[in-house]
Amino acid sequence: MATNMDLNEFHWLLAIVQSIDVGVVVLDRDYRVEVWNSFMENRSGRRPEDALQKSFFSLFPEVEERWFRHKVESVVTLGTPAFTIWEQRPYLVRFKNYQPITGQEDFMYQNTTILPLQATNSQIEHVCLIIYDVTDVAVNKHQLESANNQLKHLSRTDRLTGLNNRGHWEEELKREYSRHLRYGNTAALVIFDIDHFKKVNDTYGHQAGDRVIQTVADVVRHEIRDTDIAGRYGGEEFVILLPDSGLEKARLFAERLRVAIEEQRVSHDGHVIPFTISLGIAEMTPDCTDHKQLIERADHALYNSKRNGRNQVSVHGS
Ligand code: GH3
Ligand code: MG
Ligand code: MG
Repeated sequence: MATNMDLNEFHWLLAIVQSIDVGVVVLDRDYRVEVWNSFMENRSGRRPEDALQKSFFSLFPEVEERWFRHKVESVVTLGTPAFTIWEQRPYLVRFKNYQPITGQEDFMYQNTTILPLQATNSQIEHVCLIIYDVTDVAVNKHQLESANNQLKHLSRTDRLTGLNNRGHWEEELKREYSRHLRYGNTAALVIFDIDHFKKVNDTYGHQAGDRVIQTVADVVRHEIRDTDIAGRYGGEEFVILLPDSGLEKARLFAERLRVAIEEQRVSHDGHVIPFTISLGIAEMTPDCTDHKQLIERADHALYNSKRNGRNQVSVHGS
């Protein structure tokens, strides 16, 4: 009777192990497969007769043998389970991902548990490997991360021009200013404003005005270096922070930009819209009290450019 019960329980357990939606593999101390459930059969495409008694490493050459042996040996020695998680190791064995909704990932993300199995003589002669498919968790997390990155990008970007918006640009300026305080780095600020822009709007319409603003932004993007930080500061006002640049470098850059913009041709209804910019420059120097003062100084130089006839560069303090 007791033997019958044992046999029944054994069959039930076997049925459970077979139908459960996780991979179950039992390995002996030579890493030979002793149990191979239907999850493993379905995902690997190997029938039990092709897997049983085979070496785990020959079935899954992608498994880093030294690492896995070390892991299993410690499970056996300590008699405690070990785990792998997808964030650290995306998978233990490489299975194709067949989940239709998450089709964009081509392999199955896995968490795994390695359990010590005690024999009746209390020796650990086997370990049980449990493989969980966590592809949907991984995919959700990746999608969330990508959505967050897009949101972050949107929250920093000016819609019309694609340049940094004012808020983000000011954050960058603050960061550069604290670098200046800490390490004495220099930086120059160029601020500019489109000349007589009201006239552009009044003559050609707001949409043509927008195109002029976009064209100016394109020229800025083309002229700056990767480390320069350009932003749209206001309607038709732009700022460019030039890290590690002194006044002379900034002046050359500003002059180049002024000419490049003057040479642009935006046409509207068969008319070419002329436009120019006026620029102001200031340098981050020890006598600056804060980052705002740098903007004020550059803005003051810009004002001088306007007053002296526009379409020119002025430098603060000269
Ligand atoms: P100044 O040479 O002194 O700078 O003359 P200005 O006409 O450019 O003067 P001001 O800077 O005061 O005028 C800016 C104009 O820019 C006013 C505003 O209607 C227009 N503007 C601001 N933002 C936008 C925008 O996003 N698109 C368009 N089309 N126009 C804008
Ligand atoms: Mg203007
Ligand atoms: Mg303006």
